[in-house]
Amino acid sequence: MLRIAGGTVYDPANGIDGVVTDLCIADGRLVAEADLPAGARTIDASGTIVMPGGVDVHTHVAGGALNFARGLVPENQRVSRKFLHGVDRRAGLGGMTPTTFATGYLYAGMGWTTVNEAAVPILSARHTHEELHDIPIVDKTTLVLMGNNEFVLDLLEAGETERAKDVVAWLVWAAKAYGVKAVNPGGVEAWKWGKNANTLHAPIEGYKTVTPAQIIASLAAVVDDLKLPHPVHLHCNNLGVPGNFATTIETMNVLQGHRAHLAHLQFHAYGGDDWSTMRSESARVAEAFSANKNLTADAGAVLFGDAVTITADGPWQHLLYQLTGRKWGNLDVENETGCGIVPYVYKDRNLVNAVQWAVGLELLLLVDDPWRIFLTTDHPNGGCFWRYPEIIQMLMNAEFRKEQVRTLPDKARQRIVLEDLDREYTLTEVAIITSAGPARSLGLTRKGHLGVGADADVTIYPVNPDHGFLFSYPRYVIKGGAIVVEEGDLRHVTEGREFIVRPACDDAIEDYIRPLFEKVYTMSFANYPVEMERLRRPEVIPCDRR
Ligand SMILES: [Zn+2]
Repeated sequence: MLRIAGGTVYDPANGIDGVVTDLCIADGRLVAEADLPAGARTIDASGTIVMPGGVDVHTHVAGGALNFARGLVPENQRVSRKFLHGVDRRAGLGGMTPTTFATGYLYAGMGWTTVNEAAVPILSARHTHEELHDIPIVDKTTLVLMGNNEFVLDLLEAGETERAKDVVAWLVWAAKAYGVKAVNPGGVEAWKWGKNANTLHAPIEGYKTVTPAQIIASLAAVVDDLKLPHPVHLHCNNLGVPGNFATTIETMNVLQGHRAHLAHLQFHAYGGDDWSTMRSESARVAEAFSANKNLTADAGAVLFGDAVTITADGPWQHLLYQLTGRKWGNLDVENETGCGIVPYVYKDRNLVNAVQWAVGLELLLLVDDPWRIFLTTDHPNGGCFWRYPEIIQMLMNAEFRKEQVRTLPDKARQRIVLEDLDREYTLTEVAIITSAGPARSLGLTRKGHLGVGADADVTIYPVNPDHGFLFSYPRYVIKGGAIVVEEGDLRHVTEGREFIVRPACDDAIEDYIRPLFEKVYTMSFANYPVEMERLRRPEVIPCDRR
């Protein structure tokens, strides 16, 4: 029981834009004033900014790929400056790929209370859930990789779309996932033969008729038919490649009005013919995106400095390795997907990196509806999630942002439009791109707002003209009604929940999958679906989204 008294509340989902009011909390939820039991503790929030807890729509915090990255970059284990006030004590906290504990503390310490792990192969879903258990405080959802699943692709080739829908539904529940992800549709399947899928309308390697366009359209339709709370989550083809903006816009056309979320849009908005002519095409991508109201996206912004690129997009990672000569790891996940890892450093002197840095910010500024584009760095691909406040600072302060642009090489400045953009985000818009918008896109109706009945995930920031500082150090963070951060210190560790879905599915589909599975997988079928007992504090969210 808690009263947050006299804070200036920003709750855009309920139309509250900087209003001084009290919030009342009981049994982990926001309640009406009349329902707050007597004797509740009061937090004096006068002179502070009160927002719903942050919701990360796209991040990588658990599972096989991340562990592979941890193994590939052991030097990261020595990086701990963020935690220990700048002193490197070799605490083994994980650096760019933080440990499970550090992940929860860092998100909560920044005022973010829900995270969506955006890439889970079914084969490693059990492991992913084990790690998610281990991440304290925050609530979680997961997306299961489906854009290169051979069972699904074979059914599309055979024209059996109804059965494909049942297979997708069965696989989502087998993984105890929340939604469907498609990474480089068809391209990761082709990568098993060392190929990629660079055009949307040509059949992919190993198939006579199945094209990336067909996979995208079919999965979007299946997810809509199954009424999953979150639309198909798309990592478009040709990630990272000069000229890829055309593929991104064509992907929007292929969706034909179906709902979709376009992941890390920054990596998909480049012009030019090659690396030496690469330029920003954020204006054209933003214009096409804005016209397609069925879509949401996250920025996938890049920050200069260290990163680790981790993606199911195996062919892209191989290309990045060839371009950079850095360490490279590749995993093949049987009939489902792939995975590649390349540690990376974004440099402001590097033309390509400078364009990437600008494009993420440009998209956030050019898409004028904040309800449709959200703050992410595709952690740890474009930068680490705990650096989000640096991006907020640049969005809120045009002059500060332009100062950064002016330090870039002239050659880079000619290829971007960031210097021409004067927009400055308001606090309400920040609350939308960090919480209200992603919660709505994820279909998590009790997240991202502070109305009666919402989960009591509330962040209280001290007023500070330095927005980078402000959003790094909340004074209080309340998660599910418990005060986890108090006076800027992590005081209390709670356990988050995991949201999953159980889409409608013809039970007989198991008779179709079992023999196929026993023929082609190395694991036994009985061990494949993740048992409900593996999940701690699961909550099944209804599939009723229209
Ligand atoms: Zn990602």
